[in-house]
Amino acid sequence: MAFAVQFRLASSAPDYEGQPMTHQSAKRNRRQFLSQTSITLAAAGVAGLRSPAAASQASSAPARRRAVIRRTLGRTGLEVPIVSMGVMNANNPELLRQAYDAGVRLFDTAQGYQQGRNERMIGDVVSRLGVRDKVIIQTKVPFPRGSGDVKAEFLAGVAGCLERLQTNYVDILLLHAPSVEQMTDAGIVSPFKDLKQQKKARFVGVSHHSNQAAVLRTAAESGLYDVALVGFNVTNANDADFLAALKTAASRGVGLIAMKTQTGGRGRNLGVLNHTALLKWVLRHTEFATAVPGFTNADQLNESFSVAYGLDYTPEEQAWLADKNVQVALDFCKQCGSCLPSCPKGVDIPTLMRTHMYAANYANFEQARATFDEIPARASLGNCASCVECSAHCANTVVIAQRISDLKAMYA
Ligand code: SF4
Ligand code: SF4
Repeated sequence: MAFAVQFRLASSAPDYEGQPMTHQSAKRNRRQFLSQTSITLAAAGVAGLRSPAAASQASSAPARRRAVIRRTLGRTGLEVPIVSMGVMNANNPELLRQAYDAGVRLFDTAQGYQQGRNERMIGDVVSRLGVRDKVIIQTKVPFPRGSGDVKAEFLAGVAGCLERLQTNYVDILLLHAPSVEQMTDAGIVSPFKDLKQQKKARFVGVSHHSNQAAVLRTAAESGLYDVALVGFNVTNANDADFLAALKTAASRGVGLIAMKTQTGGRGRNLGVLNHTALLKWVLRHTEFATAVPGFTNADQLNESFSVAYGLDYTPEEQAWLADKNVQVALDFCKQCGSCLPSCPKGVDIPTLMRTHMYAANYANFEQARATFDEIPARASLGNCASCVECSAHCANTVVIAQRISDLKAMYA
């Protein structure tokens, strides 16, 4: 109950429909949480290495005279600019219009983002601009959690998306974060085929945060999945199995789209990440047709879209990517699950780390709450034994104990 109250107060997520969500307590909680959790990269000695927006804009000025780079999205045949828009954290319709004017053509959203307001905003803007046939709308529906008819529940979810998006078809419909088994469940395969036949979904695919190599291989082998939305960034540089699975999927015609390219956005508001370097690093992997970095203002839009004009690194970007302090300071949770055996209570640490990312890095408390709610009680904070210091260990650089502590301060 205490969790619910705290979450409600802290729920200041993007508010497209303009509901008043400016409760002072909520603001205070968010500020406290953000200040408590802002382990700045500057402290790790990398702040001076950032190439900020101004630098990237300067470097992109001549690039802007070049053409936008486009790639083909696998077997879909869709030609897309290499930089698209992850809309999840955006709540300003004007920003969508600016993104369209800048050249963005693929917009990524989901049924659950901002409790449906995110899809409504896209539907309104696209309708107002009259550009439905010029944009690619990608949305996601999760595998139904209820005990009823999977196909019926999934189709009902898709119908809701179409209504909110004010369209009678989506270009790309993704199954959101399923298990590998759910990807080939008849309750999903059947509606996917029906929706394509009825032209309510031009193409279908999958999006996932964890177990990504297995998801990609399943997508490639099934022949059903046209697209995969994959978390991919510089922290994956040495993940041989994952990199091999990417190549396999691409060779089988699965169109690949990258998300989490900015290592979860850590530092976006702290002014310490070199976003153009991170985005270029991802897109230099030509298995990916495009990426969906999230941006919430015009500066971030311009910074991200400058990358669409050229993928050559500037000297500053090269130096930043090569800096070992940067690698350590990124402390991005790759959702690899390696920490799970080290927790004696079976707590779902990866999903808690993702909850933390949405709250601390994106300041999207609504999405944090939704992610937290995905965790069954037996694996959530309520079942955490509150070891004096969390004994779970990260295979990478994430300080799990600090984040568990942050979450307890936030939700307990
Ligand atoms: S404190 Fe850490 S190791 Fe201990 S139960 Fe909680 S999550 Fe697991
Ligand atoms: S906390 Fe570390 S070990 Fe656990 S899922 Fe994230 S990256 Fe992997």
